[in-house]
Amino acid sequence: METLLDGLNDAQRSAVTSPASVLQVLAPPGSGKTKTLTARVAYLVNHERLQPWNIIVCTFTIKAAREMKERICGFVGEGIEKKLILGTFHSVARRFLVRYGQEIGIPKNFGIADTTDSKSIIKRIIDSRQYLVPPDQARGRISGLKARNVSAEQFAATLKKADEHEFRNVYFEYEEQLRSQNLLDYDDLLVRCVELLQKHPQCVSSIQAVLIDEYQDTNNVQYELMKLLAQARGRITIVGDPDQSIYSFRAAEIENLRKMRRDYPDSSVINLEMNYRSSGCILTTAMAVIEQDETRPEKPLIATHCVGEQPTLRHLATAQVEAWWIVDEIQRITTLSAGLLNHNDYAILIRSAALSLSIERALAKAGIPYRMVGGLRFFDRAEIKLVLDYLRIINQPESNDVLMRIINRPSRKIGESTVKSLVKEAEEEKTSLWKLILAIAQGRKKARSKIAKPAQLGIETFVNLVLTSQKKLQQEDSCDLLGLIDHVSTKINLEAYLKSTYKEDCKERWANYEELVSQATQMATSVANGEEVADDALPIVEGIEQRQDTAADILSKFLANVTLSSAVEQPNGEEVSQVTISTIHAAKGLEWPVVFIPAIYMGSIPHSRAEDHDEERRLLYVGMTRAKGLLDLAQILGRACPLATEVQTARSLVERIEDDKYPYTRDEIDGTEPWSNGWNATAEPWAKRPKVEHSTRELGGVKYDVVEERYPGGGYSKSLTNGGFTSARDVRALQQEAEN
Ligand code: ATP
Ligand code: MG
Repeated sequence: METLLDGLNDAQRSAVTSPASVLQVLAPPGSGKTKTLTARVAYLVNHERLQPWNIIVCTFTIKAAREMKERICGFVGEGIEKKLILGTFHSVARRFLVRYGQEIGIPKNFGIADTTDSKSIIKRIIDSRQYLVPPDQARGRISGLKARNVSAEQFAATLKKADEHEFRNVYFEYEEQLRSQNLLDYDDLLVRCVELLQKHPQCVSSIQAVLIDEYQDTNNVQYELMKLLAQARGRITIVGDPDQSIYSFRAAEIENLRKMRRDYPDSSVINLEMNYRSSGCILTTAMAVIEQDETRPEKPLIATHCVGEQPTLRHLATAQVEAWWIVDEIQRITTLSAGLLNHNDYAILIRSAALSLSIERALAKAGIPYRMVGGLRFFDRAEIKLVLDYLRIINQPESNDVLMRIINRPSRKIGESTVKSLVKEAEEEKTSLWKLILAIAQGRKKARSKIAKPAQLGIETFVNLVLTSQKKLQQEDSCDLLGLIDHVSTKINLEAYLKSTYKEDCKERWANYEELVSQATQMATSVANGEEVADDALPIVEGIEQRQDTAADILSKFLANVTLSSAVEQPNGEEVSQVTISTIHAAKGLEWPVVFIPAIYMGSIPHSRAEDHDEERRLLYVGMTRAKGLLDLAQILGRACPLATEVQTARSLVERIEDDKYPYTRDEIDGTEPWSNGWNATAEPWAKRPKVEHSTRELGGVKYDVVEERYPGGGYSKSLTNGGFTSARDVRALQQEAEN
């Protein structure tokens, strides 16, 4: 108990031990909100003697959930993580639906439609009806409506404009498709769980505490869910920071803070004001950036670390140059640190995943290992998705869209037009594609349009593969996931397929497949040892039937875990020290000693599609406050950007460094920049060129060219170049040298 409260300051301690039934901890980044929340969970278990399975903890990402589990184990001891109901909102909701979903008519083996699935269902609906709604837009809109708990029926009832009918039909039909394929999409997990808990509050009768991290990014449905999870006698603790609200595109409601005060008028509020993460310089700069949002109330934040290094803001010529700058800096700092820093200590934070390409290439070329967060996930890779799609069909053959993806992969001579006519036939007969091809393969039915002999054989082979796999699954008393995966990959001759399809990187893809096998082995082993799959502990509730696991359920659990591991998850790789490349969104709540934020330019951040520039500023603020010791930002030469200007203004001492060490000139690389597409600097009214002044200056015996730029509207920057690679830090080191 001592150790639990020892490392906390007074405000944190009073939050951890607060007897309040509803507690809000609102505080800036790095002030220990997550630490406090974690300690409070441990306190409730150790001190207030709550049973861990009566405590629900919701985090925003799976990585955050994992880190929190580790921290709690540190306080309470190993094993606690399996008993707590801890995970993302989606995974917590899934658990309740798997256990009690039958009460609202959700079959146990429901599948989860990930974003790709949803997209392809919607695209197919739109194509078949020859509508003009862009599929992505329709998907986003449906998701937005669901996040506000507006069903297709409710939407239709409020419909006024005639031109909305297409969208309404898409929404209706999408819902129908999900139902018939026994799928829930991400939004459904939350919406249906809300429905379950409204109708059957006894499912949460034993829940005594609900704790939520990153509360500022909850949306309406998540807020409902929080209230319902705690409806019996659950105490609520939320921690959050309005300045870090960056998910309005996912319908996050900053209003939820006000709503909470209204719904729970006697809730206690505790503010934390000490920052334990970042050096003074980094903090001051980040604060000065966020303070340019004039609508924001002023809040104190006190640094506990020394002043440290001034963040740098560089002007570099192109994306490639930025990438090489990062590689150089990583190598330079690692060497300088003499063993203190390793690759794990670096993060490169980008506005959108598409920016990672040149950075990935540069790192790979320099032999620096890296992990990619929030980009193309391991489970999204083509070869992995192929195997998983087979498993999903074995688990859930009625999933038309998945079935369409794999029926002719690898080729079974079933042409696209044959597949299309089969889909049409199934739709018209109101049956699933699977039922139709099953009947055809078993000779119980002839397809309406003639099927060529080789295609008929192909269909038979495919149906046979699914049936034998399902049989295998039913015969096992414990789930042999490994055997199943092996069976599938042998039957479809995966290795040969990868060789012929992906000539160049087939080895790497096979290695990915082996990684999947090892994941499955781990899961199968823990099940065989009688361990509950970590994600599935739920309290026993009287009066409601608990569904028991069969071998087939283990498969669907495995698939659900895979589908839900949305944000992060590159399996393995934990042991090797790796540089992290992440989107800023996915980096929320995390911290690294060294952080790079490249590509600060108009169109990237602020993003070209962003409507709310304040939110883009908050995003940059989230990125900047991930850094503990060193923060390096970069903007592109000659591309003014209001946010970069704000950073410039924010720094009390700005020494911008132009790196002419790099062998490329702007002209050589121009045209290959990923962001040159469609964005024209001169077309933007704000993109005025700065007024430039050149001079020279001597420092520590070295002569520097000084370039000062004054931007219209107040931006100012100064760079020193001596023909070599220099940074503000180097300049200071040089200065010191001269003084000694
Ligand atoms: P964010 O808003 O970015 O999620 P946060 O408020 O959740 O930040 P934490 O991640 O909990 O902050 O803490 C930031 C860092 O400060 C962590 O490394 C944490 O261990 C450390 N820290 C928090 N409180 C203290 C304390 N009282 N003493 C020493 N270190 C602390
Ligand atoms: Mg946090």
